[in-house]
Amino acid sequence: MFLEESLFYYCDVGIDMICWKCKESIQSPVCVGCGAIQPPPPNPDYFVIFNLPRSFFIPDVSKKYRALSRKLHPDRFVKKSAVERRMSLLWTASINEAKRCLEDPILRARYLATGSSRIQEDRRLTLSPEFLEHIFDLQMAAMESPKDVQQQAQQEYDQEYARLEDIFRSWDQDHDASHLQKVEIVLARLKYLNNIKQPKG
Ligand SMILES: [Zn+2]
Repeated sequence: MFLEESLFYYCDVGIDMICWKCKESIQSPVCVGCGAIQPPPPNPDYFVIFNLPRSFFIPDVSKKYRALSRKLHPDRFVKKSAVERRMSLLWTASINEAKRCLEDPILRARYLATGSSRIQEDRRLTLSPEFLEHIFDLQMAAMESPKDVQQQAQQEYDQEYARLEDIFRSWDQDHDASHLQKVEIVLARLKYLNNIKQPKG
């Protein structure tokens, strides 16, 4: 009855986990023996949570997400101890965050490249002067004919996105980390182009 989706998790870490409550060995977020929910790892790997290979090209996670949420939902633990209710909340936050990250290709790409779905503010990315100049030109042109510029930005966005997919296709083949070093630049370029194709306000 237990969470098949998460079996991998405890197996994967290669540590013999024991249930905090009944001290039996466990292989899942909920102990098969006593039904106690186990504490989530402090920094759970989003791909591991959904039992997916580390790849940019993943299937839709909504089904796995629903199955996991059901099993770990706080409603199931209302009659349990405060500790277990707390763990259920932590798990729920983890799987929500994992879903949010993995189903957004931009966040997923950043997570694969940097280990975080958030932009690292301290990381200085150097975009080429040509690109920045081009963006500036587009911004200027958008004041004259916004529709045309949005269309152009959309085309360039699609090309850049195709580059992102190429990078990850190469990475899938050899898992050479040098591919991933290119990801953040492409994401930064996509962000500029996105602001032009979808102007705010
Ligand atoms: Zn137990």
